[in-house]
Amino acid sequence: MIDDTAAIRVDFHTHSHFSDGVLSPTALVARAADRGVATLALTDHDTLAGLDEAAAACAAHGMQFLRGVEVSGSFRGQAIHIIGLGVAHDAPQLDEHIGAINCRRRERIGEIGERLEKRARLPGREIAARILAAQHAPTRLHIARELVSGGYADGIQHAFDRWLNRGKPGHVPIEWPGIDATLTALRSATPHVVLAHPHRYRLSAGGLRTLISNFVTAGGSGLEASLAGMSAVDADRIASLCRKFRLAASLGSDFHDPAVPWNPLGRWLKLPDGLEPITNRFERSHVGN
Ligand code: AMP
Ligand code: MN
Ligand code: MN
Ligand code: MN
Repeated sequence: MIDDTAAIRVDFHTHSHFSDGVLSPTALVARAADRGVATLALTDHDTLAGLDEAAAACAAHGMQFLRGVEVSGSFRGQAIHIIGLGVAHDAPQLDEHIGAINCRRRERIGEIGERLEKRARLPGREIAARILAAQHAPTRLHIARELVSGGYADGIQHAFDRWLNRGKPGHVPIEWPGIDATLTALRSATPHVVLAHPHRYRLSAGGLRTLISNFVTAGGSGLEASLAGMSAVDADRIASLCRKFRLAASLGSDFHDPAVPWNPLGRWLKLPDGLEPITNRFERSHVGN
């Protein structure tokens, strides 16, 4: 177990430029250190590529580091994100799983570019080619940023609403692996598996309970119960689900970009009373470099 004082200042959900964050792992860790984070997890989308750099930077700053990943899955046709914390150094099954996701990610970027070119007369092919040359784990956020910098949208949200979301010219439907396959891959390499931002899915109360029930059956261990920007109503809702399913609670910022104010890295995040912090389940061996 890590000591309680260290457990308070934690951020278990962050991104670097190895997926759709903008900072290098080194710059991310320096920023977290400045903001008083004692234990940091890097949880890039579908890649482990930034973990060694982040571990070295954490060691240099005297911070504890957790090797993490945020894996894309699907439930009832919508994308859901599942986080592994304490990812092993040798993770062949997980590597294969996320490798296949990234093949699909790369194809999808090309398809989105084609659609933007054909349906919206935007330079979609050029945008896609630029992203594919630069990114190993390309996401729609990369496309959105290109659309903003090219003057085709006023901001990231506008780029999604105008070009990328369902019903828009650049929408490409995608089915990621289901919960069972996602958890099998994660559990081959990580002791702790957390359902990311459960309050954000567009599901009825019953749908969310079914998702969580399937997640528990497949070996999930926690829910993200405190995220930067979460409303009190959502926090109560997720806290009740943690209690109902006896799940531990994780917390983080989902930080991507210093220019985006609503998920500030390492904000002091508190868990609702009575929840079991996921840190209680950590063995020392999973936290370190
Ligand atoms: P993808 O996994 O390729 O579908 O891309 C999803 C990523 O885009 C998420 O991880 C978010 O970082 C970002 N994203 C999705 N929707 C929005 C939105 N409406 N506003 C800002 N970022 C978004
Ligand atoms: Mn993201
Ligand atoms: Mn996510
Ligand atoms: Mn995230």
